[in-house]
Amino acid sequence: MVSMTYPMNMGKKLKILQYHQCSGVHYQEMFRIKIGVLTNEPEPVEGFDFTSYYVKSCTGKINKPAKNIHNIIICFGDNRTARKKPEWVATSKTGKATRTNKTQGFLWDHICPNVEEYKTTLLNLISNTSKAQITGIHLDCIGFPGPNYCQCQRCTTLYKKTQMDWIEWKSKIVTDFVSKASKIVKENKKPFSVTLLPDPYFGKERYGEDLHSLEKHVDFFIVPIYDMAYSTTYWLQTLVYAFRKQTKKPLYVELYAANPGPKQKNLQAAIVKISKYVDGIILATHDSEIAKQIRKNLTFC
Ligand SMILES: [Zn+2]
Repeated sequence: MVSMTYPMNMGKKLKILQYHQCSGVHYQEMFRIKIGVLTNEPEPVEGFDFTSYYVKSCTGKINKPAKNIHNIIICFGDNRTARKKPEWVATSKTGKATRTNKTQGFLWDHICPNVEEYKTTLLNLISNTSKAQITGIHLDCIGFPGPNYCQCQRCTTLYKKTQMDWIEWKSKIVTDFVSKASKIVKENKKPFSVTLLPDPYFGKERYGEDLHSLEKHVDFFIVPIYDMAYSTTYWLQTLVYAFRKQTKKPLYVELYAANPGPKQKNLQAAIVKISKYVDGIILATHDSEIAKQIRKNLTFC
């Protein structure tokens, strides 16, 4: 396993003033935590322990590797490729895994994880990006779009040839791809991580994301748990606790912090609520200026 450089330091010591609604008491929470930021600009954001940036987004647009940044590659979400190669799109009895499928509510278009030509393109991108002066490679959208996917002709034929259970087969497809990517990234001596969708119990049967087989290949996991408000946080703690109990790998949670988004006090309450169970928080501001403003309002000591 590559020695961890994500991030090098121990994180910020954070001081957050909390207000207990029932008792009306103000109190301070102080703890040490790593704070990262997800931005749309390929420049490290000052004041954070690390910066993440999409070198390939779900639109299909591919950017140059971003120096001194964790470069994110969205794998099987790719609107551009879905448009150019409709025969590569994941499909099921409920239709194609695209934004136009009104019964499913997909936010982007999904490519079938068994298209070898597409996977080769992704692995080449991972290889080229890993060779640049970056602080790590992160893969997002690594799995199938849902429990009924993929039932395209390609997958149906491949699955018929195996003696495997459907869920085991799906998760093997995902883990095998992540394993190949991990090998490439490690050859280039860079930290490697993947996103797990925010389901600590059924990620394997829904998306083929088997936390236990994936953890052998990654340096850490990121779980995005987005909400526009974080007006309550008990559910956030429930999800994060469940992930924490199932893996000893470093765990980072990505919180939504763009504009419009949660109030600063709600965001801070969310950070406090999960701070005991995570190795770091990533604030998904998608904008460096918003990130700097939030950073200014967080008190470090
Ligand atoms: Zn398929």
